[in-house]
Amino acid sequence: MDYDVLILGGGIVGCSIAYELSKYSLNVSIIEKELDIGNDVSETNASLIFDGMEIDNDLNYYMEYYGNRNMRDITRNFNVPFKRFKSVIFEENSIENKNFIEKMYARSIRRGIKGIQKVSGNNLKFGLDTKINFNKAIISKNWGVICPYDLSIAYGEIAFDNGVNFRLGEKVVEIKKISKGFKVTTTKNKFTCKFVINTIPDDDYKLGSKIKKNSHKNNNAKCFLINKKFKFKDIAVILGEDEERIFIYPNFNGETVAYVITKNEISYEEAFEKLQNRFPAINHNYINNSYNKQFFNDRIIIDDKLISKGYIKIDGKNYGTVTMTQFIANTIRKMVIENIPSKLKKDFYGKRREIYRFRDMTNEERKNLININPKYGKIICLCNQVTEGEIIDSIRRPLGARTIDGIRKRTGVMKGDCCGSYCMSKVISILANETNKDITEILEKSDGSNMIMSRIKQFNEI
Ligand SMILES: Cc1cc2nc3c(=O)[nH]c(=O)nc-3n(C[C@H](O)[C@H](O)[C@H](O)COP(=O)(O)OP(=O)(O)OC[C@H]3O[C@@H](n4cnc5c(N)ncnc54)[C@H](O)[C@@H]3O)c2cc1C
Repeated sequence: MDYDVLILGGGIVGCSIAYELSKYSLNVSIIEKELDIGNDVSETNASLIFDGMEIDNDLNYYMEYYGNRNMRDITRNFNVPFKRFKSVIFEENSIENKNFIEKMYARSIRRGIKGIQKVSGNNLKFGLDTKINFNKAIISKNWGVICPYDLSIAYGEIAFDNGVNFRLGEKVVEIKKISKGFKVTTTKNKFTCKFVINTIPDDDYKLGSKIKKNSHKNNNAKCFLINKKFKFKDIAVILGEDEERIFIYPNFNGETVAYVITKNEISYEEAFEKLQNRFPAINHNYINNSYNKQFFNDRIIIDDKLISKGYIKIDGKNYGTVTMTQFIANTIRKMVIENIPSKLKKDFYGKRREIYRFRDMTNEERKNLININPKYGKIICLCNQVTEGEIIDSIRRPLGARTIDGIRKRTGVMKGDCCGSYCMSKVISILANETNKDITEILEKSDGSNMIMSRIKQFNEI
């Protein structure tokens, strides 16, 4: 057998499972079709950590509750930004008859969720002018905001440092049951393994036979990244008419993230108007970036009906998967260990290699760092104060970035007010230099996404 366990898909779920299994004497590999891990987490690098209050099905409630309870320890251990905020869910007057707040409150009490409070009347203040017409709301002290890229990458880096083999840029095309395990075929290789953990939400194969793509329960989401001129210090969720939802919360960069979720596709202008109707202080000029997204609301299932054969599938796409990740990873670890005898590694190292973030350091710390490595004294991204030293480190780290998107995720470069117009060419040159490539070979994300198509003038000699 090539491997004991093959994990298919290098999203946050696949990486967290790799991290848990890397604690054991197992030969594990993860196969990801893209050139980097953690692809589906939000571009804004700010995800909500829920507490199970808002979700109706009891299994996924527990996954969220467990993830929330353990998030402080995990993020502290990995040095990943995480902060708790007061969160308020408003039920607008227009949908009063749906009784969402009453049902949510009753469910939370039944589930024993502490730290929540039901309020009525239009007397909740956010320290800014809001126009939310509501009669009932529910407040929780348990929600938080996390950097999901940092968490995915932390899981991946530690798994990599502890011996998990990452096969990036390989697409799984077939999984076949063989006498003592599985044969997994990718676009580049064929592997055999004892156990398969399939985290790919949209696979179009099932143990050899083609099946039709999963259909997901989803609504449309327009995401706005609002610059620092608008200050929002809490998390708010607005439940409106016709399944309309607005999520708004701060990220770790001093910006605000807002999602406008609707049943049917709407234009940028319509979504912006819905947001501005509730938060009149948000101005068109404050929007740094916007994304079209899907808001998935499937039930997340750990499908273990084929576990005796050595196959587990994580099914479904959900808006709260980041919160549920640690529960899923722990559950899968227990299942695998019960089925493949293995021992805890004595030399497992569960910490991430140090990361220096210039923008978060004191002047004294900066001075010391620059003395050791002068590249930390050269700012490449003026908006987010990212230095050349940080960019080089993001490439040289375990499982380092090989694309511009990978550098952007790891360092925050090109994510400021200028969206990269000042620093992009410098970042391309650094990546080309570090990886010994020509700048025309540098990719944004996937194969074929070259940042520079060709040089305007090319000379062999000057
Ligand atoms: C805009 C947005 C906002 C979100 N906000 C929140 C939030 O606030 N709180 C929260 O808890 N969650 C949130 N989520 C949910 C969460 O980020 C995602 O559900 C989660 O990242 C999904 O992780 P995954 O590992 O299950 O799936 P994926 O990240 O989709 O991982 C599957 C991987 O499999 C790879 N793959 C696919 N096909 C193949 C193949 N044939 N061979 C090899 N590899 C393959 C894909 O490239 C992908 O990397 C949000 C998601 C989005 C998109």
